[in-house]
Amino acid sequence: MRTDLLALLICPTCENGRLELVVTARDTREVRTGFVFCYHCQSTYPVADGIVDLLGDPPASIEQEQRGWLKLLGETTPELDAHMLQLPDLPDPHWLSQATNFHALLSHVKLAGARVLDIGSGRTWSARWLLRYGAGQVVAIDILREKYIGLATAELFFQADDIYFERILCDMEHLPFAAETFDAVLSTASLHHALDLGRVFNALSRILRPGGLALIVNEPVRRCGTEQDLSNSPEVAVGINEHTYTILEWLAAATKAGLRPQLHVPQSVKLAQQEGRLGEVLVSPRVNYLAQLLGSSVGKRLLNWQSLLVKTYCDYELPLAMVARKLDTAY
Ligand SMILES: [Zn+2]
Repeated sequence: MRTDLLALLICPTCENGRLELVVTARDTREVRTGFVFCYHCQSTYPVADGIVDLLGDPPASIEQEQRGWLKLLGETTPELDAHMLQLPDLPDPHWLSQATNFHALLSHVKLAGARVLDIGSGRTWSARWLLRYGAGQVVAIDILREKYIGLATAELFFQADDIYFERILCDMEHLPFAAETFDAVLSTASLHHALDLGRVFNALSRILRPGGLALIVNEPVRRCGTEQDLSNSPEVAVGINEHTYTILEWLAAATKAGLRPQLHVPQSVKLAQQEGRLGEVLVSPRVNYLAQLLGSSVGKRLLNWQSLLVKTYCDYELPLAMVARKLDTAY
C-alpha cells in the first residue's frame, strides 16, 4: 500500500474511525510491511507484502469461500505466470467471451484519470486493464491473497508493466471506504458471489460519488420464470457462494441502491449474431427473435430500447453488461 490510500479508508470494525499507519518495511514502490490501526475502536490490521488485510476475523461464510477457491486452484507451478500475464485474452471459448465483453464495456466509458474500485478483483488482471483504459488510481479488493487466484498475483503485473494499484483484503458487502470516494466501480463476474445482492449494491452505491458509474460485466443472468439450479456447479461443490439472478433482480438491486442502470447487448452476443452462430452461445431455443432484434436498425431508435433489452435478458441467458450511474440525489 501507499500512504495516500489511508485518506480513502474507514475502519471496517467501527465504520467511522479513520485509520493510521505504522510502517516496518517499505521499498521504492510502496509500504510492504506494517499495520494500520483505528484510534476509535483500537482494531489493528496487518499489511503484508503490500496487501492490507481488512478482513480481520472473517465470518465462517467467507472462510468457506476462501477454502473453496483454493481447492479449485489446486497445485500451481511457475509456468502459470505466462498464463496470468495473458488474462483475460486467452484462446478458449469461455475466456474469449469474457474478454470480448470486458473490453467492449471498458472501451465504452470514459475512465481518464478516474479513481476506480475493482470489486472481487481476484488475480487482478482487471485492475491492470483499468489502468490501461486510463484510470488514474485503482484499488483492487478481494477475499483471496494467494498468487494465481488472489491479490498477490498483482506483483506479476507491477513488474511487467511498471504500474501500481492498491490491494485490499475485505468483504464486498462491507466496503471499508469513506462515502463518495470513487468515480467508478467495476465488477467482472464477481457480484454474483455475494451472499446478498442488495447489500453489495447498497455498499457500492455508498462509496460512489454522485454521477459515478458501476460497470458490471460477465455476471451470469438466469432466465425469468426459471428456478436457480446450481447442482452441476463445480464452484458450489467446493463451498463457493454462487447465485444466478434474473435481470429483474439485478435491475431491482441497482435501482433500490440509488443507481440508474442501463443495459447493453454483450459484445460476445453481437459478434455471434454477426457470425451467424447465435445458437451456439445462447441457451434459449428462440434464437430467431433475438437475431431479428439485434439485426434491426429500427430497434435502437425506439424509445423503449431498454425495455426490449430487459425482455431479451429475460428470455435468453445473456452475460450481464450493465452500466449504472449513481443518481445525484440521496440514495
Ligand atoms: Zn474502528
